[in-house]
Amino acid sequence: MSAASETPHALKPLLIAGEWIAAPGQAFESINPATGQTNFLISAASEAHVDQAVESAWNAVRQPAWRDMLPHKRAALLRAIADGMDRHADTLARLQMIENGKVQAECRAQVASASATFRYYAGVCETLTAEVTPPRGDYLSMTQYEPYGVVAAITPWNSPMTMEAQKVAPALAAGNAVILKPSEVTSSPALELGRIALEAGLPPGILNVVTGLGATAGKRLVEHPGVRMVSFTGGTASGRAIARAAADKLMPVALELGGKSPHIVFADAAQDAAIDAVIGGIFEGSGQSCVAGSRLYVQRGIAQAFIEQLVARAGRLKVGLPDAAGAQMGPIASFAHRDKIEGMVGTALEDGGEILLGGRRPDSDALRAGAFYLPTILGRLDGNARVVREEIFGPVLCVLPFDDEEDLVAQANDSAYGLAAGIWTADYRRAWRVARRLEAGSVWINTYKQLSIATPFGGFKQSGIGREKGLSGLRLYQQSKGIYWGL
Ligand code: NAD
Repeated sequence: MSAASETPHALKPLLIAGEWIAAPGQAFESINPATGQTNFLISAASEAHVDQAVESAWNAVRQPAWRDMLPHKRAALLRAIADGMDRHADTLARLQMIENGKVQAECRAQVASASATFRYYAGVCETLTAEVTPPRGDYLSMTQYEPYGVVAAITPWNSPMTMEAQKVAPALAAGNAVILKPSEVTSSPALELGRIALEAGLPPGILNVVTGLGATAGKRLVEHPGVRMVSFTGGTASGRAIARAAADKLMPVALELGGKSPHIVFADAAQDAAIDAVIGGIFEGSGQSCVAGSRLYVQRGIAQAFIEQLVARAGRLKVGLPDAAGAQMGPIASFAHRDKIEGMVGTALEDGGEILLGGRRPDSDALRAGAFYLPTILGRLDGNARVVREEIFGPVLCVLPFDDEEDLVAQANDSAYGLAAGIWTADYRRAWRVARRLEAGSVWINTYKQLSIATPFGGFKQSGIGREKGLSGLRLYQQSKGIYWGL
């Protein structure tokens, strides 16, 4: 059976030990959020499947063919996977598009970014060095870095391929075997990645893909005694449950969690560019981005004019089928998630807010069957409103005025989250001051959502623990060992 099979309602199997294993009794549906139609049936891994995947991963990682593989050879395999992703870019982009509804151009860009991540970690893998540390006696002391063995990667649905590449590539580069558990909303790109990795020559069992539910497959994976480290991206509530389970096992975890990022516009900012960035920052991907700039702070002097222009421009965004020419916003990734967004917008009204734009589904007949929601801007809010405090993960922007730098920093940091922030100002001294005072893992100055695989990424406060990307993103999947050699 092939994971590439795309017959409607075909059952997609799990990938364990290089074999495709169908679990027809426990299948769930992959739904196209743009149409409401079923794409595929996906096998849901049982606890027994997870146990089998962990066993196969340990068998594979202990084989000399993988255990003793030199870094430059592992790097060559990662490059072959990147080449495979490029060759199958159309399929990967399409699978993501029909499962999470992101517009075609963004899906394509994310495949390119994911294959570039494999290439980046191929480079890191074959150039990273160990250390000779200063001796304090007659010996040679060294620090070596070794893989954990078997690690789990658990991913969300909003940007599955980039998140999966960001975990799988460094974990393999570090010498581990990986069990990947994609979101139940976007199982197919992960299965396709598994197929591409096998085709590229990765030994069977080194990358296993167990599709399934968080509450069963995900939970078992985290609790399994054979899983030595978990790298998770997803919501803060799931992250907390994983951290608790990890505490019982004393297992290291990397947690990339939710956000409620402030996007800040001072009165002296380049307003046109700031408006474009604010719009892209929240409405790209229909707001389903962990770093979405969902709280807009505008300095009081310019607030009225700025918001008027912002509302006018955001109102011209083209919401459409993800593969329609010129579509800038596709649907929400699932119908259940659209319900949640609608519910949150309802709380804004209860909390005294007003709708400046959107706040409803589109009227168009062509979009009626899908989980669409219009770009929404909310005003007349204060810092206590639920929409200001809680992550909505949808195309909903909360606008709040501020008076001066002190007021701004206090408001922006008044959040449980600390993932990202954006600052627009012409005053470079102020930009520097504010950037250092904001409690956020990434700060953008006169730009937004600029991301590089070379720069460590992660959250302050409840936005996470640990940093992915960059050199430290590979070390995340290794443990150091001190070796003393008596002379
Ligand atoms: P989610 O937490 O519901 O699910 C994420 C993954 O975890 C899924 O694969 C799910 O099946 C699994 N899971 C859920 N509960 C689990 C458990 N108890 N044990 C093991 N696995 C479990 O998140 P989502 O709705 O898929 O994604 C949206 C969330 O992800 C948002 O909060 C968003 O901010 C966050 N996110 C964060 C980043 C980041 O880098 N910080 C990036 C993208 C998305």
